[in-house]
Amino acid sequence: MTHGFRGGVHPAGGKELTSGRAVEPLPAPAMVTIPVSMHVGAPCSPLVAVGDHVCMGQVIADTDAPLSAPIHSSVSGTVKKIEPMLHPNGTHVMTVVIENDGLDTPADTIKPHTDEIAEDPAKLVDIMHDAGIVGAGGAAFPAFFKLQGAMGKADTIIINASECEPFITCDHRLLLEDGGHVVAGAKLLRDALGLDKVYIGTEANKKTAISHLREIIAGEPGVELIVFRTRYPQGAEKQLIRAVTGREVPPGGLPADVGCAVFNAYTAWGVWRAVEQGVPAIDRIVTVSGPGVNEPGNFRVRVGTPIRELIDAAGGIKDGYFKVVMGGPMMGNAVFDIDVPVLKATGSVLVLGEAPAAKNPTCIRCGRCVGVCPMHLSPLYLYMYERKSDLDMLTKLNVRDCMECGSCAYICPGRLPLVQSIRSAKQKLNAAGKK
Ligand code: SF4
Ligand code: SF4
Repeated sequence: MTHGFRGGVHPAGGKELTSGRAVEPLPAPAMVTIPVSMHVGAPCSPLVAVGDHVCMGQVIADTDAPLSAPIHSSVSGTVKKIEPMLHPNGTHVMTVVIENDGLDTPADTIKPHTDEIAEDPAKLVDIMHDAGIVGAGGAAFPAFFKLQGAMGKADTIIINASECEPFITCDHRLLLEDGGHVVAGAKLLRDALGLDKVYIGTEANKKTAISHLREIIAGEPGVELIVFRTRYPQGAEKQLIRAVTGREVPPGGLPADVGCAVFNAYTAWGVWRAVEQGVPAIDRIVTVSGPGVNEPGNFRVRVGTPIRELIDAAGGIKDGYFKVVMGGPMMGNAVFDIDVPVLKATGSVLVLGEAPAAKNPTCIRCGRCVGVCPMHLSPLYLYMYERKSDLDMLTKLNVRDCMECGSCAYICPGRLPLVQSIRSAKQKLNAAGKK
């Protein structure tokens, strides 16, 4: 039984475009562009110089800041440039450009950590830190920090395999093609927290993956699969926790505040690989899909691959389409240059049609945005007070609790730009120094 969550919507899935497409490994590109910041927390500083030879998996940027994640080279080759370059988030970020020598010479730091884990499961924190593993569902929060913060506090661990955004199927394919190693990573995380059970939560629309997982975990009392009704945003952390445990993460709170730790399915897979093989976060499975892609598919690519190469591998963009989004159609961000690189948390690249702009966006006070908001917010009032720049009312109405899931904008018959307005409200609060 699941507890469900309030609100949510049912956007058209589009998952059938790629759910049956096996993951295709792409050759590493001739040149990788690797930003020294692709995570929540402090950016790293380059540890290499132009002209240096680097190995695959070698740390090329790091920092002493407590909340961060080291950056590794995804190929072996020669450092050609270190300079600020366009990041998928639209800013310019220091980036290390490496010419691939095609040899994939591994760093001598790549070695299994199974003995350390056998001695002390909690050593997983250091292993995850050194492997640079970040939340793979898009948030890119350093995963070691989350595990460390949950130690002694969490009584429940959940692997998030919901993948609730339309079009995206990279986790579905991972579960189907290598679910055993997702489960192995989940068990490592469970054991590090000293818990008896790990829950794997997924949506009912992943039927093939569900059957496969059921076979894998048969007879394993320490792993339980929970299947949710398909509803967006089931994969949001707070909604997932609510659905599995019935607990509500308080406004401004963290999962650990209600005794929970949540890790994405690909993160769990990365944990397994870091322990078993010592390979850090240097690649990703990325879904390339949407109505504007000729041959949608799932691809395994190195971090730092220009998304142009993924789009080419998917047969290119159809005539008349030009809107490229990294992430899902509900929460992703449009990119303005398809030479930006795949990051550790890039799960999808979509090519979508541009929705025609509403001529006169008007609120008809239907209340539907309030009904679907999973965070119990009142989007129409957030919109109104943002227009008035009434920061006190925005704070009072908990605008910072908005996770920008887009459910309100999706349902709004008045076509109001609710999410853009909420983002602007947060920026105004930041500029005014208000928490
Ligand atoms: S859904 Fe749109 S039109 Fe309806 S109340 Fe909310 S903002 Fe207004
Ligand atoms: S107000 Fe924020 S959390 Fe609520 S539905 Fe809109 S985008 Fe989602």
